[in-house]
Amino acid sequence: MNYDVAIVGGGASGLACAVRLLRNAPELKIAVIEAGERLGKKLASTGNGQGNVTNTDMSAEYYFGNKDLVKKIALSPDRISLEEQLFHCMLHADERGRVYPVGRQASALVDSLIHDLQHGGAEILLNTKVTAIDKRLKMTLSSGQTLTARFAVLCTGGKAQKQYKTDGSAYALAQSLGHGLTQLFPSLVQLKTDTEHTKILKGIRVDCGVTACMNGQTLARTHGDVIFTEYGVSGNAIFAISPYVADRHGTVLSLNFLPFDDEKIIRDIEEKKKLGYRDGELLSGTLHNQIGRAIIRRCGSNRAEDICSTAKSFILNVVGTLGFDYAQVTRGGVETDGVTEELESKYVRNLFLAGELLDIDGCCGGYNLHWAFSSGYAAADGILKRL
Ligand SMILES: Cc1cc2nc3c(=O)[nH]c(=O)nc-3n(C[C@H](O)[C@H](O)[C@H](O)COP(=O)(O)OP(=O)(O)OC[C@H]3O[C@@H](n4cnc5c(N)ncnc54)[C@H](O)[C@@H]3O)c2cc1C
Repeated sequence: MNYDVAIVGGGASGLACAVRLLRNAPELKIAVIEAGERLGKKLASTGNGQGNVTNTDMSAEYYFGNKDLVKKIALSPDRISLEEQLFHCMLHADERGRVYPVGRQASALVDSLIHDLQHGGAEILLNTKVTAIDKRLKMTLSSGQTLTARFAVLCTGGKAQKQYKTDGSAYALAQSLGHGLTQLFPSLVQLKTDTEHTKILKGIRVDCGVTACMNGQTLARTHGDVIFTEYGVSGNAIFAISPYVADRHGTVLSLNFLPFDDEKIIRDIEEKKKLGYRDGELLSGTLHNQIGRAIIRRCGSNRAEDICSTAKSFILNVVGTLGFDYAQVTRGGVETDGVTEELESKYVRNLFLAGELLDIDGCCGGYNLHWAFSSGYAAADGILKRL
């Protein structure tokens, strides 16, 4: 089998790369090689099945890894809103700037990309894993066949959620060609914490402020849902804060259950005391009863000021994460100093790398898909320049 371009991995970045190539050079003989039984399976499950493809608030501060490369690849004026052109779907931003297809169906995004691939005549090899690749871009497939290509693009994703065939085994392809790999961590993931003070809160969801700190320094702050679980904490706010703690030991979370004026809170507690409320009930009506009791028990005093300060800074020690099986994205990956600004390998001519495979990841809110699509575009543009 001989192709002009072989794209390894039919996920978000691989499909964007293929579509970009087909639209600009329809004469190319392109193969998309996908280990799974379907193209874009992970993409179809993103954003709770609704597909949060990008964000209106785009900045390098929402990315981790090589920010210069992010600026050049993902934030350049011609790529910042590439999703508008990539899909045959109308897109719409919600009040938080998260952009979704108007129909809120991520599978429609995949259908749109597959339509373009089929229409453009790309060859799609499903249930086919690339097991080896050499410097002449000759690939060995799981079927035992070999395939050669003039250009190859590795778009094999990261290590998050192996049910999507992203078990991390594909890093070895890049490594076999001389690329280095940074340490890998799960990100956008639930956090394990000490549960001494939260065991009784299991199953309770609360809207609160969350600050991640290490050695007295604030790493990040957010606000939103926290759900107490048997292992620690989950919820939107935890997902949002997890990228800042994923690769650090010794982080603490400070939960602010009462983001109001101290005075107001203290007055409310004092009034309850005067009315004869028992200690355990001093936050009743202000917070979920169980949370109120957990705060007062932990505080160990019935002084209104002490209760108020515990409610505003309820500390949990982070002891780990739920791991790659639950994470949405991988922190770390193939070292970016091994690729050019067009994402071509510095070690193998005509080999490009894109997507989560590289050591770049983003915050929750559409940043990872935008990186996947824009890096797929960048690889395609690099190839188009060479034709
Ligand atoms: C549940 C979930 C929800 C998410 N929601 C969002 C969201 O709403 N917004 C957002 O921005 N991000 C979201 N993400 C993250 C986002 O989906 C990924 O960052 C993005 O899909 C990465 O794109 P990619 O092309 O690099 O990798 P993937 O989309 O993971 O694609 C890689 C593909 O390569 C294939 N492959 C791997 N190895 C081989 C091989 N050796 N040979 C052939 N094929 C191979 C895999 O089967 C896979 O299909 C979510 C992730 C998950 C798990």
